[in-house]
Amino acid sequence: MWINYKFSTIIPHYFHTISTRQIIDYELVFYYNNLCMKEEVKIWDNLLDEISKDVSSVSFDLWFKNLEPISLDFGKLILVCSSDKQKELLKSPDYKKYFTNSIKKLNNPLVTECVVINKNEKESYIKDNKSIELESSKEDSIEENVPYKFNENYTFDNFVVGNSNNIAKAAAFAVAQNPGKSHNPLFIYGGVGLGKTHILHAIGNYVTSHNPSANIIYTTTEQFVNNYVYSITHNKNNEQNFKFREKYRKADILMLDDVQFLSGKDSSQEAIFHTFNDLYQANKQIVLTSDRHPRELNFLEERLRSRFQSGLNVDISSPDLETRIAIIQKKAFQQNFNFSKSIVYFIAENITSNIREIEGALKKVIFYCQLNNKDCADDLSIVREALKDDIDISSHILTMDSITDAVCSYYNITKEEIKGGKKSKNIALPRQVAIYLILELLSLPQMTVSDYFGGRDHSTIIYARDKISTSLETDNLLKKQVKDIRNIIQKN
Ligand code: ADP
Ligand code: MG
Repeated sequence: MWINYKFSTIIPHYFHTISTRQIIDYELVFYYNNLCMKEEVKIWDNLLDEISKDVSSVSFDLWFKNLEPISLDFGKLILVCSSDKQKELLKSPDYKKYFTNSIKKLNNPLVTECVVINKNEKESYIKDNKSIELESSKEDSIEENVPYKFNENYTFDNFVVGNSNNIAKAAAFAVAQNPGKSHNPLFIYGGVGLGKTHILHAIGNYVTSHNPSANIIYTTTEQFVNNYVYSITHNKNNEQNFKFREKYRKADILMLDDVQFLSGKDSSQEAIFHTFNDLYQANKQIVLTSDRHPRELNFLEERLRSRFQSGLNVDISSPDLETRIAIIQKKAFQQNFNFSKSIVYFIAENITSNIREIEGALKKVIFYCQLNNKDCADDLSIVREALKDDIDISSHILTMDSITDAVCSYYNITKEEIKGGKKSKNIALPRQVAIYLILELLSLPQMTVSDYFGGRDHSTIIYARDKISTSLETDNLLKKQVKDIRNIIQKN
């Protein structure tokens, strides 16, 4: 897991095991250590936040603020203090409780206890814990012949296709059917939560089921770097280096997720370059993902950047409304929880950034509905409450529902009536007005509006819109009514 040494302490320890060539990798080891240090620092920052809420500012400044987190070992966060007095005090029950409470509040499984040591103990702590360091970094050692377990939910069948991702899906599917032959390398880029990792797993699942003996390696770039660092820092008799090369170069398909994390890791870039060349020349498939187009990966060495661009580059963008609706319906179905159409639209209209957020929103909505003893999501007020942190409820949200509500309240009819089949004038006119306003105010496809109004024929929707639009040119009463309704919509 974590290497617990800072650069200065790791060098002497490993010096005898590394070759001259690898000395340049110290930069990388240093980077790696910084990377690893981050977690304990981050955790300590969060704990400090909690502690500051519980203790006086004087105590906080005197006793807690200057503690230095040096490592995180199996849940123990080691903190170095500056004097014996401070250590003694922090170990007393009166002060210890602040650590315990903050850990409880933070609720992060990585930390279960804070251990305070003083400056003098720091050196010997580091020495005595060498074994922990070696053992804990085993996770990064190179495992061979262990098939990767792909997430079984991340399949092509479960991947909802729309304008934003159809090309990426088609390219990935072609690769899965014909690895090494169609698009090599395939480079998929796009923002977070848009399905890049899902697609890689889908390739993995597909190939595994059609060709169980294929050697498919999926790895995050972070894990690749960790493996590489391990191979150079634990390289007795060149064994680890050899294992590293063997592992990656024996792949039939190598999938490297989030290559933007290669930033600043020059040695790992070199390792990837050589791996890439070997695999490519052997017609083995390479699939890469990133948050941006390879040409924008400025930190990459030119030769690697041009390799990444040499195959097919496809992007995934934010899903449009139609796709969001389809995704919500699919996810709701998978969760076995019913969502009314208007709630599906409400979520789709308001959670627009990415699919991970849509998934989070659905989970919250289901949770809130269950709290309210409801077995389906059909109550807008519960959904608004559930999503109050995710969408700006205070700002004006225009939805088909909010427009229809305004029309119904203006004409004093019910939503069932406006969406129902009655053709009497007192219902038909409000219905046409609602359709007109929805199409005018929201850029929705007519199909979606047809659906919303009980699956009415497409031509009925067009007729309603055109009729109101023409009447408005001459009918002053209608003009006033539509103006009043617009005002209601704006105020809601
Ligand atoms: P990324 O790797 O681009 O950050 P992920 O692949 O982790 O995004 O996707 C985030 C979540 O959204 C996952 O649970 C994934 O299954 C889901 N997801 C993304 N795109 C789709 C899609 N088109 N259809 C269904 N689920 C999707
Ligand atoms: Mg991802």
